Amino acid sequence: MHKIESAKLLKQVMTDYFIGLGNKEKKIAWCTSVGPAELLRSFGFEVYFPENHGALLGTARLSGEFIPVAAKLGYSSEICSYLTSDIGSYLSKNTPMTKHYGLESVPKPDLLVYNTNQCREVQDWMMFYANEFKCPILGIQSPRYLDEVKTSDIDNVTAQFKAMIPTCEDVTGLKFDLDKFKATLKISKEATLLWKQCLETARNVPAPISFFDSTIHMGPIVVLRGTEVAKSYYEALLSELNTHVQAGSGILENEKVRVYWEGMPIWGKLRYSSDLFSSHNAAVVASTYCNSWIFDDFDEDHPFESSALAYSTIFINMSEATKTNRMIKLIEEYQIKGVVFHEAKTCFNNSNSSFGMPQRLKEATGVETLVIEGDLCDLRFFSEAQTTTKIETFIEQIL
Ligand code: SF4
Repeated sequence: MHKIESAKLLKQVMTDYFIGLGNKEKKIAWCTSVGPAELLRSFGFEVYFPENHGALLGTARLSGEFIPVAAKLGYSSEICSYLTSDIGSYLSKNTPMTKHYGLESVPKPDLLVYNTNQCREVQDWMMFYANEFKCPILGIQSPRYLDEVKTSDIDNVTAQFKAMIPTCEDVTGLKFDLDKFKATLKISKEATLLWKQCLETARNVPAPISFFDSTIHMGPIVVLRGTEVAKSYYEALLSELNTHVQAGSGILENEKVRVYWEGMPIWGKLRYSSDLFSSHNAAVVASTYCNSWIFDDFDEDHPFESSALAYSTIFINMSEATKTNRMIKLIEEYQIKGVVFHEAKTCFNNSNSSFGMPQRLKEATGVETLVIEGDLCDLRFFSEAQTTTKIETFIEQIL
């Protein structure tokens, strides 16, 4: 059993990133978490991710304070609680980034960019800020719920990527540099492949890292995609995890059963969730959530087309049939005995339990499934007592 020592380096990397957002030397682009970060970085933008801020608010348990503020403006408290927490925090002029990183406020955007490959909510979210900051907004409208990504889909998204260039040039005053874009995509791919290898170390028994750890360690691949910093971080993390694998050391002292977490984390209950599983010797070793930032289709020789492919192929953007097939593969590869579906009440996009998938998955694999109700940020939708009973009973069943 071990602690992941790279957490110290992670803290430094994330602190430097947030402090950098406040130094006002670079133009700032706000981007959705699976938006075209590499293209923006190739223009020299510092990239800020409102969803990451939403997760910070959830982790700090501030969402309960901010969601009603957004609701007063007409943003229903039943929609994405990242969005409502973030807008409520903005309206309240209050962010945990002040306390943790010394930022006066969220960094002012010069450009807003979204991709609807994950949901339409991000478009409404960025539109709010476009009105507030009176700055340009660009969007990629992705073809959704695909069985597979076809050439026509790639052509469609590629054209939308290219259409962003003139506005990026206007905002930065720089000409698009294809070589810089290729170089940025290359670094991003290298980081993403390292992240993939980090996650795959959990195929080993015992697993050296859990899903709950990964939700923290995924920070750089979300916010620093396309930078050497992210690449170096995952080199360090992978090296450490491989050392634990070689030593036969697991993140749990006595791993007895392996679980797949489907859906988003409950940010305000991460420690509780982790402790609940580990106290019953259940290792949560796989998820589609953390895998969402593996973009192994990036190819610097075809930067636009491969970006279009990589960003359209993400799990959340696929059809039910394709999602099910991907999950079956992960269940086999990670020797999973049970799948916990987190039904996040304010994000149906990231909740896959409402259309019979748990039942179909059980039929296809024989693996037990459980649905728990909760939310990414809004703890009104979460009952600790009920969840504990459900998960304890479930673990008993699969042990
Ligand atoms: S995928 Fe869900 S949590 Fe993420 S921005 Fe969209 S609605 Fe919000």
